[in-house]
Amino acid sequence: MANNQPYPQIPDGPVLCDTCSRTGSKVEMEPHKALPAEARKWAEEQDAELQSYRCPECESVQVFRVD
Ligand SMILES: [Zn+2]
Repeated sequence: MANNQPYPQIPDGPVLCDTCSRTGSKVEMEPHKALPAEARKWAEEQDAELQSYRCPECESVQVFRVD
């Protein structure tokens, strides 16, 4: 099966940073305006809606499906 769903569904609650959770901290990620180029391309091709979130601590970015 092709990997055409590379982005997880957005969680119901607060979006916690995976990277920070590995070190035991619960850091809530913040909605971020810019999507990475590959995510924007994917959203256009799949006609899906994506939202990126950015961690204020480690600055990692995660992209979620919001539809
Ligand atoms: Zn983090």
